[in-house]
Amino acid sequence: MATEKNEKMEQIVSLAKRRGFIYPGSDVYGGLSGTWDFGPLGVALKRNIIGLWWKLFVEDREDMYGVDAAILMNQKVWKASGHVDTFTDPLVEDLETRQRFRADHLLKDAGFPVDGLSLDQMTQLIKDNDIKSPNGNALSEVRTFNMMFKTTVGPIDDEASISYLRPETAQGIFTNYKNVLDSFYPDLPFGLAQQGKAFRNEISPRDFIFRSREFEQMEIEYFVDPAKWEEAFEHWRQQVWKWTQALGLPDENVHELEVPEADRAHYSKRTIDFEFDFPIGKEELLGLAYRTDFDLMNIQNATGRNMDYTIKGTNTKFVPHVIEPSFGVERAIMAVLTAAYTEDEVNGETRTFLKLPEHLAPVKYAVSPLVRNKPELVAKAREVYSALKAKHGAVMWDDNGNIGKRYRRQDEIGTPHCVVVDFETLENNTVTIRERDTTEQHRVSIEELIK
Ligand code: ATP
Repeated sequence: MATEKNEKMEQIVSLAKRRGFIYPGSDVYGGLSGTWDFGPLGVALKRNIIGLWWKLFVEDREDMYGVDAAILMNQKVWKASGHVDTFTDPLVEDLETRQRFRADHLLKDAGFPVDGLSLDQMTQLIKDNDIKSPNGNALSEVRTFNMMFKTTVGPIDDEASISYLRPETAQGIFTNYKNVLDSFYPDLPFGLAQQGKAFRNEISPRDFIFRSREFEQMEIEYFVDPAKWEEAFEHWRQQVWKWTQALGLPDENVHELEVPEADRAHYSKRTIDFEFDFPIGKEELLGLAYRTDFDLMNIQNATGRNMDYTIKGTNTKFVPHVIEPSFGVERAIMAVLTAAYTEDEVNGETRTFLKLPEHLAPVKYAVSPLVRNKPELVAKAREVYSALKAKHGAVMWDDNGNIGKRYRRQDEIGTPHCVVVDFETLENNTVTIRERDTTEQHRVSIEELIK
């Protein structure tokens, strides 16, 4: 089973590179571990996913406000949030090669439950069970490693100029809570949403885009009356299911994991990790956390600015509590590719295709002339292509190779419809549409198609 799973992962990685979805970062220079570049189809898929999220959770709702904060933030943000002190992973070193690994990952790979273990307990387990590094060498003691990328801002390199590439988008939301409150004075509950880059110096990035050092998050901080947090938590639990369904992920491959207290982030009073059956195993797709008033109180204490919300028309005021659904873009992409990757048999041959939901497919229609050497056919096909492109945007011109090869190529990138202009088109203005999922073909008039 494990090999089968790894095979599927390899097939997805290979298709993603071959067909222009996702390339290793800085590939031509030998790569940069934990970074990935999105090619023409990858960026289209990514934008479709982000756009869907924004539509569902910002545009379609009355209680949400979008923000787009700077990636570089005042270092005080990360001190107050606890990231400078506690945003760490357990690290061990190969004593021969000095290569570094995540202790909890090595222990998990060796079959040990790791949840809630202290550093000392991990060190002890490694010793007692003589666990070696993947290179077969002895391992050091386990210590913590802070995952934030440190940098300096401005021309003077001193303590005061230290900043960090943000490890989560959430803090850019909390720091703007008061601004939005003052500009819009929204009714409670209300949410702020942000999508953008986050950076974590992961000790061992792995599993394709699943664990990267640079990735994107889509986060919501939903501010609620502390007495009503459970209701809001339940609302967002349902919304997360709505999201996984909108991504086309089968319900049976999505699992809720109620995170026990010992394993929750320091700020969380309740967390559900939503896991997905990736080819690498059941792993976290996104998280839903009750962050209490932890972040707003930290800001209030650190800055002296009052973070109270006053219920309109009353003197009742309090610092709101927060429900946070935190979505990862790369993990959504990996889940979508996993769910969409399909093999079937067509005319006795194995066919690979991406059964992407139409609203996520990077290309909705591919348009081809049946043959390339008949100028009237090409001209007619160009006309159909331009009209469809004006309407849908995501339309590809494809006249490479024979028609069978074009279908295979479009299947592999998940194009739901291939439109072919043939000799009959010149006579009666109808075209053939070939459907990706069924491989069935039918004729429609150009007029109907464009409509
Ligand atoms: P993990 O336990 O897998 O490291 P996490 O619990 O640290 O993840 P959160 O801090 O809850 O992750 O981040 C919220 C979301 O951001 C995750 O559910 C995931 O979708 C995404 N994410 C976090 N770290 C990475 C990463 N290194 N690469 C890609 N996506 C990530």
